[in-house]
Amino acid sequence: MNLTEDIIRAISFASIKHKSQSRKGKKHIPYINHPIEVVRLLWEEGKVRDKSVLIAAILHDTIEDTHTTPEEIKETFGQEVLDLVLEVTDDKSLPKKERKRLQILHAPNASKGAKQIKLADKCSNLYDIIHSPPDWPVERKMEYIWWAVSVVDGLRGANQPLEDHFDQLVELGNQTFVRENI
Ligand code: ZN
Repeated sequence: MNLTEDIIRAISFASIKHKSQSRKGKKHIPYINHPIEVVRLLWEEGKVRDKSVLIAAILHDTIEDTHTTPEEIKETFGQEVLDLVLEVTDDKSLPKKERKRLQILHAPNASKGAKQIKLADKCSNLYDIIHSPPDWPVERKMEYIWWAVSVVDGLRGANQPLEDHFDQLVELGNQTFVRENI
């Protein structure tokens, strides 16, 4: 199957899986905007053209945040896509703090494709925290930035334009939240 056809199938699949979810921010953006933004970042900013990476980016939160099973993804999109999705899926049976610690620890060992997806994911999350912030105190937003910086440190070398894009968002986030703190 060609890229366009697979992308359409993946967007349709993810939109059904995420249909009743919205993003954390006060603007209540539909959840599906996030995986679409992640694949846009990979394509436009990161110039990624690997089909499995693009498809896995669209599906990257389906196992972690919906009732999607690995078998479903394997059947519909194949083993390579499933492996990438699993690489970027946290183990939800662990406490949140531990999952966040493991993301920092595991980042350097991820495959190049998974690193690219994680980079775009962190860019999208950071953008949303700046432009559609959740109802968090400024310290928590700053903490999120520091944590994301630690994860991205382990991803460097996988995609320079996405790393530059992330660094710009960190800069913008710091300026925005420092101003909020005064
Ligand atoms: Zn995500």
